[in-house]
Amino acid sequence: MRITCDYCGASFDADTNSSCPKCGGSFGNDVEMKGMSDNYKEEQFYQEQMQLKEQQQQRFEARQKELDGQVKKVKIGCVVFAVLLLSVIIIPIAMLIAGSQEAAAVVLNNII
Ligand SMILES: [Zn+2]
Repeated sequence: MRITCDYCGASFDADTNSSCPKCGGSFGNDVEMKGMSDNYKEEQFYQEQMQLKEQQQQRFEARQKELDGQVKKVKIGCVVFAVLLLSVIIIPIAMLIAGSQEAAAVVLNNII
C-alpha cells in the first residue's frame, strides 16, 4: 500500500518500507496507515473469530464421533450382558422344566 509521508510528503510503499525512505520518519501514526491498520485489525479479529468457530466445530464433531463410539460400545455391552443374563436365567429354567418333566414322568410311572 502506498502512503504519503506525514513529515516530508514523499510517497512510498508501506509494505516494503518500515520507515520513510526519504526522511526516515516512522509511519506508525500515519493517518492512512492507522485507518488501514484499524480495518486490518477488524478483519484479523473477524478471521480469528471464524477460525475459532471452525475449531470449535471440529472439536464438537470429534467429540460427537467419540461419544458415538462410546454409545456403540455401551450398546454392544448391553447386548452381550442381555445374552449372558438370558442364558443364566433360561438355562436353569430349562433345566428346571426338564427336571420337573423327568420328575413328572417318574411320578406318572410310579402311579401307573
Ligand atoms: Zn518522509
